[in-house]
Amino acid sequence: MEVSQPKELAYSETELNRTEGAIIENLKAGAQQPIADPDKWLDEELKKNIFLTTVDAAINWARRSSLWTVVCFPACCAFEFITTAGSRFDISRFGMEIIRASPRQADLMITAGTLTWKMAPNVKRIYDQMPEPKWVIAMGACAVSGGIFRSSYAVVPGYNHIIPVDVYVPGCPPRPENLLYGIRLLQKKIAKESLMKG
Ligand code: SF4
Repeated sequence: MEVSQPKELAYSETELNRTEGAIIENLKAGAQQPIADPDKWLDEELKKNIFLTTVDAAINWARRSSLWTVVCFPACCAFEFITTAGSRFDISRFGMEIIRASPRQADLMITAGTLTWKMAPNVKRIYDQMPEPKWVIAMGACAVSGGIFRSSYAVVPGYNHIIPVDVYVPGCPPRPENLLYGIRLLQKKIAKESLMKG
């Protein structure tokens, strides 16, 4: 039986060994130091982009920065509110430029005007239809106490007789600066609220 001869190699074994050795030596030369951790940048970026806070602080920040006012402006203080909402005083700085005709989309009632007993049930219904949480700013002497009409049989001696009031802004009428100050006070009050208190 005829035995087949091995084919002649293209390179001698010595050459192959040298080539292989050169490759290994090259790799060794470039691998003296460990490769840097490719995720190292995460340490730096995370430090710059994560901040810790409480749920209360985050929710209160969102709530006080987006108070939407329901339409409830039964008398002359309304014009001071309108001025406050205009470009000169600009309540959109506080995220408040959206005035809602639907109480279900509002969380703030600014009671700008004298309230008569005839209107009172409607104002109370609007307040009751606003979802929780909700707040009230009594704007002007009439809203605070009935103002110059307090002794009238037809006037409610302050909105706090029919709905809970959070902030009182006196004046007849109060200037826009006064109302803005009242809004800032309400924002501070909201900042102190807690979900734990229900
Ligand atoms: S406080 Fe003065 S301006 Fe405001 S609703 Fe009463 S009377 Fe009008």
